[in-house]
Amino acid sequence: MLNRRQFSQTLAGLAAASLPSQAQAAPDWGGPVVDCHHHLRRTPEANIVHLDGCGVSNAMALTRANSAEQIAALKQKYPGRLLGWFASADITKPEAEAILTKAIKDGAIGFGELKFHVEAAGPELRRMYALAGELDVPILVHFQEVPHTPTEGVFATGFKNFEAMLKAYPKTKFIGHADAFWANVSSDYANDVDYPKGKVKRGGVTDKLLGDYGNLYGDLAANSGNNALSRDPEFTPGFLKRHESKLIYGSDCACSDGKGGGISQGGNPGASRLAGKCVARETLTLLKNTVSPTAFKRLTWENAHRVYRLKA
Ligand SMILES: [Zn+2]
Ligand SMILES: [Zn+2]
Repeated sequence: MLNRRQFSQTLAGLAAASLPSQAQAAPDWGGPVVDCHHHLRRTPEANIVHLDGCGVSNAMALTRANSAEQIAALKQKYPGRLLGWFASADITKPEAEAILTKAIKDGAIGFGELKFHVEAAGPELRRMYALAGELDVPILVHFQEVPHTPTEGVFATGFKNFEAMLKAYPKTKFIGHADAFWANVSSDYANDVDYPKGKVKRGGVTDKLLGDYGNLYGDLAANSGNNALSRDPEFTPGFLKRHESKLIYGSDCACSDGKGGGISQGGNPGASRLAGKCVARETLTLLKNTVSPTAFKRLTWENAHRVYRLKA
């Protein structure tokens, strides 16, 4: 028979022996987390493999406008995991408004992501800003001034002048995302590189607009979001504090398993810092290490529920 001391030594030994398998397990983020930049994957299972792999309880999916059936299948097979979906359609086509209006009728809760080779203040996106305001749904736009590859092109250009859009469409809830949105946390961004490094020069357009306009929110997803929050540790805590109620967690991660497997930054050489890593995990770890548990919950759960009106 074991005496008390031997018994507790045995327990300690068991705990130590089980460490390797615990290290393999998905991280525990201390509560539910919703990934609001989850591109819908081919099969219901593939979505869940990623969520489970990175310990994320729920997703808000970005899809094409005609994805209602795929969404229904996912919801049926994995009840409660998907809290909503945004729809996208080719906004350069005249039928875009009708298609997106129908998607909202079919259950989509927002527009996005809208990633097209147009100007941020051009007629195509202006029509969408107006429609999103009319239908009272958020609109998520990919802003990018520098191509990642010779053939990629640029998207929703001219973010530095986006204040005019925030003024022109006061009822529209804008969600900023991608390279130019995040590079502009620094006031010295010159539309010259995709992911600027080094110290952030205070007073950047993004920081200012998030502070000044109640109708602009920020999507923390992708290498762009992670890079902006990683480049200057003196900048990040204050930025997250200032905009604690305006920032919404998402991953935009393309890894297959929630552990960095598969091709996680394909076709994007500038994002190689996150190659082989799961963006969902990386950004959650960064947030967890930077903000209080209350703020973490806001960024990863509450803000999305309020701004996107999520429901299972
Ligand atoms: Zn994007
Ligand atoms: Zn991942």
